Amino acid sequence: MMDPRKALVVLAVSLVLVELPALSAGPKVGSLPRGEDWRTPTERAEYRTTPRYDETMAYLRRLAAAAPRQLKLETFGVTGEGRDLYVAIASKDGVFEPITLHRAKRPIVLIQNSIHAGEMDGKDSCLALLRDMVVTREKASLLERAVVVVIPIYNADGHERFGPHNRINQNGPEEAGWRTQSRNLNLNRDYMKADAPETRAFLKLWNRWLPDFFVDDHVTDGADFVYDTTYSLDSGPDVFPALAALQRDVLGPRLERSVADAGHPIAPFIALKDDADPSQGMVTWPSTPRYSTGYVILQNRPGLLVEMHMLKDYRSRVTGNYEVLRALLEVVNRDADALVTMNRDADAATVAAGRRHDPAARFPLRLEAESATETFRFQGRSYRRTPSEVSGALRIEYGDAPALMDVRRPSSFRVAYAVAPPAAYIVPAQWTSVIDVLAFHGLRLRRTSRPWAAEVETYRCDEVKWLDRPFEGRQVLFRPQEGPPGSEASRGACEPAKETLSFPRGSAVIPLDQRAAKVAIHFLEPEGPDSAVAWGFFNAVFEQKEYGEAYVLEKLARDMLEKDPRLKEEFERKLAEDRDFAASPATRLDFFYRRSPWWDSRMGLYPVGRLASLEGVPLDPERQEPGAP
Ligand SMILES: [Zn+2]
Repeated sequence: MMDPRKALVVLAVSLVLVELPALSAGPKVGSLPRGEDWRTPTERAEYRTTPRYDETMAYLRRLAAAAPRQLKLETFGVTGEGRDLYVAIASKDGVFEPITLHRAKRPIVLIQNSIHAGEMDGKDSCLALLRDMVVTREKASLLERAVVVVIPIYNADGHERFGPHNRINQNGPEEAGWRTQSRNLNLNRDYMKADAPETRAFLKLWNRWLPDFFVDDHVTDGADFVYDTTYSLDSGPDVFPALAALQRDVLGPRLERSVADAGHPIAPFIALKDDADPSQGMVTWPSTPRYSTGYVILQNRPGLLVEMHMLKDYRSRVTGNYEVLRALLEVVNRDADALVTMNRDADAATVAAGRRHDPAARFPLRLEAESATETFRFQGRSYRRTPSEVSGALRIEYGDAPALMDVRRPSSFRVAYAVAPPAAYIVPAQWTSVIDVLAFHGLRLRRTSRPWAAEVETYRCDEVKWLDRPFEGRQVLFRPQEGPPGSEASRGACEPAKETLSFPRGSAVIPLDQRAAKVAIHFLEPEGPDSAVAWGFFNAVFEQKEYGEAYVLEKLARDMLEKDPRLKEEFERKLAEDRDFAASPATRLDFFYRRSPWWDSRMGLYPVGRLASLEGVPLDPERQEPGAP
């Protein structure tokens, strides 16, 4: 009698033989086991097309049915238009519970696809990767320690705004989805403000899984060059040092070698200083927390941004994206213990810093590229520049020939603006939308049990200016150019102040001795690039709500001038020195209104308090929002 395992192999082989004629046109990969055609929808279409939402989910369900012990589908939210958001969880032994996995020190890798739903490379590569890990098992070793959580289609509504004209710069697939979600919000600007239901679902998912590594898959815009695969790993001064070193010294070089060995030219993300002249070199900018990979830094987790090159054919891009993920997972499995330990150390360091509350400590809020540059050997394309009668500017035309160029690029980032974190923040109860966002981020909130007033540190924001057009559906603050720390240019609109503020019962207290404290600092420090102030959550505070009639102010001004000779002197000096002031009757009257007791002293006063300790704050023992694990 034949060994039953051998019998299965014979059966499988014979089935494959039967299937072969039908499969001969397609790739060999994915035709096993059981003789079924396991090619992904895009492989079956020879990489001409990408599957719609329903077809994508049907393929994932098929994978999960074939390997129920290794692959599980879960929903994690609903889009604005009512579509379910899914994750596919691949685990070698059927353990799909984050808490159990954390306990076993198995690194969880969260791979996000289709945040920009015209950029489908990641989705289609993940379908192949999941198949190869759990069905054909050619890549089963990638699950040896790691558990892979894949969001196949994050922007599901945008994905179904399907058409051939959604990505003007991009070479295939024939049709794809749209960049933004159904309210036209760019989800990759929404990580801090969390306006979209998709972002809120993501944050819940994040806090449930608390992954050890995060990947966000995209397709570039920008220049032409040889590389089909580009990537970015943040390792600036805001990243926990051990994680920064892991990314810069281990992961980056390893990805480049491994992906290149697999036949895909790869480089760090390319952004030209001048789009029409590659010889001018590269620019780089820090990922602020509005972006996925900037956000995960605040959560003490490493993140990889994948940007496949838009001009390469879809087959090269999907397979290149596959190789990046494969190479990443190899490192994560190999360095599983180190990675898990670093993440826990980073969390512990954040909690300890919050507990210690050293007033001399500085937290980097804004970064900028160093002025020092390094040489980068850029594998560009030949090009020529000619005057254009269409645009009136120089036109760049790329040729097909590779062109090696030594160009300059910034070598690293430095801190442009830092702040001393308090021990805790307190947000008055009436600012519900701000408190809601803090809770979405998984922060542990306490509530006050009775009205409380105290002198606290806060800010006065008297120089606030707004951008003259909406951004992401909001009226956002205009920020001056960044400059060196402490310089005029790096100063924003807000100045530290000590004020007596009132906090009604139910005000939210956010202590910083918690692992997600950096999110609270970024959101509640007004000078943060993605703070609640910057995104316009507090705009009403900066509006003048009472006005003095001119004939009333005339009388007020005369009374004040008569009583206060120094004020009179100041007024006269301003008239003499400031022509705009002298020419504006309203501003001249306003001069007196602002200096009178009638002026609204709360205008421009930031209502959030910075607490040096929780002593004396009436905290409600019953109301404690738990925050993330
Ligand atoms: Zn993108």
